[in-house]
Amino acid sequence: MNMPDFEYHAPESLGEVCALLAELGDKAVVLAGGTDLVHKMKQWKLTPQHLVSLKHLDALREIRHVPGRGVVIGALVTQNGIYTSPLLQERYLSVSQAAHQMASNQIRNLGTIGGNIANAVPSADLPPILVALQATIRLVSAAGERTLPLEEFFVGSAQSVLARGEVLTEITIPDQRATGSTYIKFGLRRSGALAVAGSAVAVTVDGDTLVEARIALSSAAPTVLRARRAEEFLTGRTISDEVLARAGVLAGEESRPRDSIRGSAEYRRNLVEVLTKRALRKAIDEGHG
Ligand SMILES: Cc1cc2nc3c(=O)[nH]c(=O)nc-3n(C[C@H](O)[C@H](O)[C@H](O)COP(=O)(O)OP(=O)(O)OC[C@H]3O[C@@H](n4cnc5c(N)ncnc54)[C@H](O)[C@@H]3O)c2cc1C
Repeated sequence: MNMPDFEYHAPESLGEVCALLAELGDKAVVLAGGTDLVHKMKQWKLTPQHLVSLKHLDALREIRHVPGRGVVIGALVTQNGIYTSPLLQERYLSVSQAAHQMASNQIRNLGTIGGNIANAVPSADLPPILVALQATIRLVSAAGERTLPLEEFFVGSAQSVLARGEVLTEITIPDQRATGSTYIKFGLRRSGALAVAGSAVAVTVDGDTLVEARIALSSAAPTVLRARRAEEFLTGRTISDEVLARAGVLAGEESRPRDSIRGSAEYRRNLVEVLTKRALRKAIDEGHG
């Protein structure tokens, strides 16, 4: 297929990647799994002069638990790497299963968690569950590094605070008191379909009391959206079907989806309502499943 010309670089270290990105400026783009980037280049929607591959940064392919910090996931871990990770399956099956709901096996073998976040599209499946679990991200450039809550990364549809020359290197899910979490997505096909809407929740349950809930929605606004009114309503409530249903209604009301070929705004709001109610019940009953 006809593609724009580009020069390919594959530096051996993160330091070299950052130095090269600083030198090339806006002529360069980072390449991870390429599932989005190469596709856009084939359509001539992106025509970077230089591709800087992260392929030699093996340290970014690890998932590990760091005592006092939490589960640290390297940005180059693939979606299937997230799905099959024994550590995530043991601690956060919710994250592992969110990855399994994405795309097709072929795409999951290539597409990385870093690329899924860096794209900053509202239909991305990993950001909502990571936001619900209060994940942070590390961004590194030739000028230094910074760590910020993932939630603050997204500023608009396909827009983020990622500065030119910055590389997303890792995602940390902090050790937490949430007793359960899950992500439920609705796509137009059982597999390989983007989310028409999705709801991720993390709950802290004590007996029959919902101490705290965090709800993060996909395809419900230009960015991942926290359903804060629903969260406030749930805080300290005695768990019942009526309470969960009310929280679903509130989440639907505060979502701001758009009409698109995959579904009308009204349809998506109805989905958010139903998915949020189901996700809350699942996280309460099944823990981090
Ligand atoms: C057929 C198909 C189906 C899909 N289905 C789904 C789905 O169901 N759910 C879903 O969420 N997504 C889906 N996607 C989207 C895609 O698979 C993911 O977004 C993927 O995770 C992107 O990762 P990548 O490593 O391939 O990124 P790339 O294509 O390499 O890069 C994407 C963008 O992110 C930047 N980038 C990548 N890594 C970094 C980094 N570490 N630091 C800084 N910038 C970086 C690149 O410069 C580029 O701008 C689908 C894609 C296809 C083609």
